[in-house]
Amino acid sequence: MGKPKILIIGAGYGGMITTVRLTKELEAEDADITLVNKHNYHYQTTWLHEAAAGTIHHDRTRMLIKNVINTKRVNFVQDSVKSIDKENKKVILKNGELDYDYLVIGLGFESNTFGIKGLEENAFAIRSVNTARRIREHIEYKFASFNNDPDAKDSDLTIVVGGAGLSGVEFLGELVDRIPVLCKEYDINPDKVKIVDVEGLPLVLPPFERDLAEYAQKYLEGKGVEFKLGTFIKEATPEGVLVQKKDAEEMEEIKAGTVVWTGGVKASHIPADSGFETNRGKIQVNKDLRAPDDDHVFAVGDVAVFFPKEGERPYPPTAQIAVQEGELAAKNIKHLIKGEETEPFVYKQRGTVASLGEKQAIGVVFDKKLKGKSAAAMKKVIDDRYLLELGGVGLLLKKGKLNLL
Ligand code: FAD
Ligand code: NAD
Repeated sequence: MGKPKILIIGAGYGGMITTVRLTKELEAEDADITLVNKHNYHYQTTWLHEAAAGTIHHDRTRMLIKNVINTKRVNFVQDSVKSIDKENKKVILKNGELDYDYLVIGLGFESNTFGIKGLEENAFAIRSVNTARRIREHIEYKFASFNNDPDAKDSDLTIVVGGAGLSGVEFLGELVDRIPVLCKEYDINPDKVKIVDVEGLPLVLPPFERDLAEYAQKYLEGKGVEFKLGTFIKEATPEGVLVQKKDAEEMEEIKAGTVVWTGGVKASHIPADSGFETNRGKIQVNKDLRAPDDDHVFAVGDVAVFFPKEGERPYPPTAQIAVQEGELAAKNIKHLIKGEETEPFVYKQRGTVASLGEKQAIGVVFDKKLKGKSAAAMKKVIDDRYLLELGGVGLLLKKGKLNLL
């Protein structure tokens, strides 16, 4: 092999960290590095619920890729990946194709609507800068129109959130901060606004211990959120949603001007459609993060699934894991180029914090339970830590959250 070509597709957490780390692990003469992404910017998915509610501007969540990577070492190509031709070691793009010796797939997640009727057409999903911006503008438009449109109905001001996992609850936390601002801005009586969360399970935030989840639920209820637990969204229509309580025969209609679906995610469809061996659409990576059916391909982040031990549950799709996988993928590519043994993935679980707007949160960090303002501060520390790893102090100062404390 001549100078190996390393191709990274997708500039999310996994792809960006792999790229940045590769430029540190390898010298320019060791390999050619190319990064492909459909936008010229990288965004922090973990802040998109804030951009969607409008509590931060979407530009705070994103940064130009060329400002973060070393463009002398990395060839950045802005294009959309269509498929991967693994037999010929090529990635097919909308506007061409690229060869590789080593490929890192970091194409991330897509919203999972589980085939629920009408959701694709009538509900929004928090998935990218573009979708978050549309949600913010849609909600704002509903409020701005309310006093101008003679046909406006109170239900135009109802927002339904589907699912009370971490994304749903974090979005609710932002909404309860945002709605009073919108009411003031557009002269709307806050009593007319309804926020309804519909969750199929009988509880909110299933991954957390009950005392923390109940704290979150009570906090949000105190701010006016109505939870319909043990209730499934069965259909979304232009007028709202049809829901059904577990064991009930009848469906109930909730009329709403906005429906935001946070009911689940799945991997990018591209690896499965390209013929990779997948487990529920994800590449079930080996211990060193390589695809089981292709030694030249690594998968990181939400397109990958990693089982710590046989019979155990896989790790969840999180940014925290995508970052750690990106770090190891870069290291293991270096090992392969240098003819060394690859290293196994060892996940360092630092904890999980769910924000409830700007000043509240719940979480567990290094096995310590946190709630309230201390948890909210910890969430900002976690957000800033990533910026520091990605782009050093410069990026932290430019984009960091701690200056808001
Ligand atoms: P992604 O972040 O999904 O990035 C994929 C990249 O690939 C994007 O830049 C995309 O534009 C690009 N791409 C996709 N398809 C193509 C294509 N065909 N061609 C070219 N480019 C393409 N996790 C946490 O650990 N902590 C949190 O606080 C947290 N908060 C979250 C909040 C919300 C609202 C959501 C939705 C998720 C949250 N998560 C959180 C989960 C976390 O965001 C994901 O696990 C993480 O984004 C996965 O990273 P990734 O690198 O796999 O891909
Ligand atoms: P999720 O799958 O974790 O939660 C979806 C929720 O929707 C579940 O509680 C599910 O019961 C519910 N649901 C599904 N179908 C439904 C229906 N028809 N009607 C009503 N409810 C329904 O998805 P998510 O919250 O988007 O999280 C995705 C991943 O991102 C997870 O791994 C999560 O840990 C991670 N994440 C982490 C953070 C954080 O660390 N702060 C924040 C957001 C997301």
